[in-house]
Amino acid sequence: MEKKYVYFFGAGKAEGAAQMKNLLGGKGANLAEMTNLGIPVPPGFTITTEACTYYDQNDRTYPSSLENELMNCIKNVEEIMGTKFNDPVDPLLLSVRSGARQSMPGMMETVLNIGLTSNTIPGMIKKTNDERFVYDAYRRLITMYADVVMEKAAGVEPEEGKEIRGLLEAAMDEAKEKRGVELDTGLTAADLKQLSERFKEIIQNQLGKPFPDDSYEQLWGGIGAVFQSWNGKRAVSYRRIENIPAEWGTAVNVQTMVFGNMGDDSATGVGFTRNPATGENVFFGEWLANAQGEDVVAGIRTPNPINELGKTEDTAHLKSLEEMMPELYKQLDEIQINLETHYSDMQDIEFTIQQGRLWMLQTRVGKRNGPAAVTMAVDMCESGMIDKETAVMRVKPAQLDELLHPMVDPEGEKIAVELAKGLPAGPGGAAGQVVFTADEAEALGEQGKKVVLVRNETSPEDVHGMHAAVAILTAKGGMTSHAALVARGWGKCCIVGCSALQINVLKKEIHVSGHVIKEGDWITLNGTKGRVYKDQLPLIEPDLESNDKYLKLMEIADQVRKLGIRANADRPEDAQKARTFGAEGIGLCRTEHMFFDPERIKAMREMILAETVDERRQAIMKLLPFQRQDFYELLEAMHDLPVTIRLLDPPLHEFVTLTEDQIRNLARDLDVPEEKIKNRIDSLHELNPMLGHRGCRLGITYPEITEMQARAIIEAAAMLTEKGVNVHPEIMIPLISSVNEYKHQEQIVRKVAEEVLKEKNVTVKYLVGTMVEIPRACLTADRIGAEAEFFSFGTNDLTQTTFGFSRDDAGGFLPDYLSEKILPEDPFQSLDQIGVGQLVQMGVDKGRSVNPNLKIGICGEHGGDPSSIDFCHRAGLNYVSCSPFRVPIARLAAAHAAVVNK
Ligand code: ADP
Ligand code: MG
Ligand code: MG
Repeated sequence: MEKKYVYFFGAGKAEGAAQMKNLLGGKGANLAEMTNLGIPVPPGFTITTEACTYYDQNDRTYPSSLENELMNCIKNVEEIMGTKFNDPVDPLLLSVRSGARQSMPGMMETVLNIGLTSNTIPGMIKKTNDERFVYDAYRRLITMYADVVMEKAAGVEPEEGKEIRGLLEAAMDEAKEKRGVELDTGLTAADLKQLSERFKEIIQNQLGKPFPDDSYEQLWGGIGAVFQSWNGKRAVSYRRIENIPAEWGTAVNVQTMVFGNMGDDSATGVGFTRNPATGENVFFGEWLANAQGEDVVAGIRTPNPINELGKTEDTAHLKSLEEMMPELYKQLDEIQINLETHYSDMQDIEFTIQQGRLWMLQTRVGKRNGPAAVTMAVDMCESGMIDKETAVMRVKPAQLDELLHPMVDPEGEKIAVELAKGLPAGPGGAAGQVVFTADEAEALGEQGKKVVLVRNETSPEDVHGMHAAVAILTAKGGMTSHAALVARGWGKCCIVGCSALQINVLKKEIHVSGHVIKEGDWITLNGTKGRVYKDQLPLIEPDLESNDKYLKLMEIADQVRKLGIRANADRPEDAQKARTFGAEGIGLCRTEHMFFDPERIKAMREMILAETVDERRQAIMKLLPFQRQDFYELLEAMHDLPVTIRLLDPPLHEFVTLTEDQIRNLARDLDVPEEKIKNRIDSLHELNPMLGHRGCRLGITYPEITEMQARAIIEAAAMLTEKGVNVHPEIMIPLISSVNEYKHQEQIVRKVAEEVLKEKNVTVKYLVGTMVEIPRACLTADRIGAEAEFFSFGTNDLTQTTFGFSRDDAGGFLPDYLSEKILPEDPFQSLDQIGVGQLVQMGVDKGRSVNPNLKIGICGEHGGDPSSIDFCHRAGLNYVSCSPFRVPIARLAAAHAAVVNK
């Protein structure tokens, strides 16, 4: 059988279905699904993504069977509609719409009103008895077709200011000026007819080709343009940002036109089944009477709220669909509820009303920002619409990150100078310097500057600059405009429809409520309320502790995940913070930070300079009370939870990097000659300190250090135990590469610990284990695992030693590795699963082969990275440990890992 390239939908029956997204694209699959659900959808058909791939690989030609299939589908549509494509008496008009697997807002193009030609126009006028409507549709067809098919898809690169769309719009403005009207609706049928002729002349002059006056030529032109636009510049750049593979291809949907611009009983609009900015469970949307779909999305007119609930202070005076067409609103409301229930997710819908009849043109899973994603997931889970696993998957780690983002300080906001109000398209607060073009935003963003991109409206050409900006502000457009959609997708602060802004792009200034804001001036946006302020206002961190939806989501994530989550923290305050973020222990307490306090560092230096063992012991023991106090506070803050404390790790010379003055002072303090200090410092110098005298190697040459630290830990633990505090210290020996190193250190630790416990006559349950961060430790993990009670992978050093890259020097070449794609990612940020990951897996397997209960965690930077967390789950680790602020993200990512790898 020949491959099927075209799938029909119409009159309650479709060949496709929602789960066929890969083949039919998102839009096509959902049009089919809606049709099958009995929802009114204008009939049409979908040309598959496989046809796109064929087209790309075969010199822009179609599979031979495609034309036949397409003609059959047109015949079906004609039968349902009772009209004929290209018919002079009763012509059928079509739209050509692209639709990839994943929605790519605005990236691909749509051509409406296909089939209007000198042959069909008279019949269309007669049928509708509305000449003005027909010429309005015609001028829209010409504009879209010239822009999308004849210029963009054809790869024509016009000079600045010579873009065909701009030229045609200028001709339209001229016509309006001549007629003395401001809106398109002020132009008469004759004006529009004349304008169409003018458009065609401009096209011929500018593009050297006539606008096609043949219905089928228009149709094929539209289809080819969709396929070509898949490899257009903008689509390719969006795909790169969003990581969408080029092989996916796009489908093409050809569909009967329905008209929202056929008078005052016609309308068009878009909606979300829940509020995409807050997550609130209310139908939310915008509509325009007597307009074609693109008018709402393009932000040419500011649209009306769809219902009474959606009205804000700023839109209260506008008429809602609920008021104007209550019956149709009711039907639409039922459909949106039906769709959300059917898909069990918030839907983003498009509809058109043609002379009192409602048609659905699109449904898809709606984009939402982080706070909305959290609210919806929790609400839908609590109402039983989705289960817990689905609920956690509904929030991406990056979206959770948005909840941890700043807001404008309300105190500062009270006294701030308000410049303008707009629509709150992307919540949160941001302050930045004003720029007017996407290129500038990108250039300054790369320099690390905070910029706010200010535009009349944005288009897909601006995405790179929108990405680089901290916030986006537009003068035009509604909550579903391009700027709003893109910003929401990225969780960016954004205000749209800020009509008070008079933006002069040439002069690079904004005139607004008596102020002049120039390029580079600071402004602050409150994207939650839609307010723009002069100057840089202070921002504050959000209060997660009183955010019920967030807390509930974390609770669900905790039920779903298998991995434990700990935090890396050295100080009691950080430990406390980690605890409130939900950490279940400390995975890494580094002790070296505890030595830099002025009094302590003196004792440390004395120890380093000591000549005899006794002197050294005396010096190091001065540190004991300090360390004991540190551990006491940390263990107390983390009562009931495990705390992994790593013994001293860095090379000693880090404690004696001294200036001449400091050497002189130290010599006086310790009463030793300066010469001696200098000689000692020289002797500590290492050519390659990262591979030098550090980690357990210190404890082996200076066992007093290990003794002192073990004593401090166990004494603190014993004191707390006496007080009735439940403590779980885990003593971690760093940088082990052979089991004998481990045994040497473990013996010291246990001996001291037993001594202390005997002295104090208490029992403390403590563990001794090791940090696995040298390849040899992984290779011999069965030997080490037979002795150690736990492993914690130190993946920073393990990455360093596996690659042979010095983390401190990698900055010199890593950027080139990334830009040349030699490495897909920075291995210090995201674990190199295929290389370093093998060593981790080997460490786990070998360790557990001799000790099935071996407790295993990770405490490198990777512990907070979602894809590394997924790896840790698969590798069978017990927990990940990350910085306190990453703990919520790690909890969510661990839940994802549990679901994905089920
Ligand atoms: P996008 O993917 O950018 O949303 P669409 O294919 O949805 O593009 O088309 C853009 C606009 O054109 C939509 O707002 C839709 O309402 C309108 N449109 C598309 N097809 C039709 C049609 N058959 N009849 C009426 N309007 C249409
Ligand atoms: Mg659409
Ligand atoms: Mg290390």
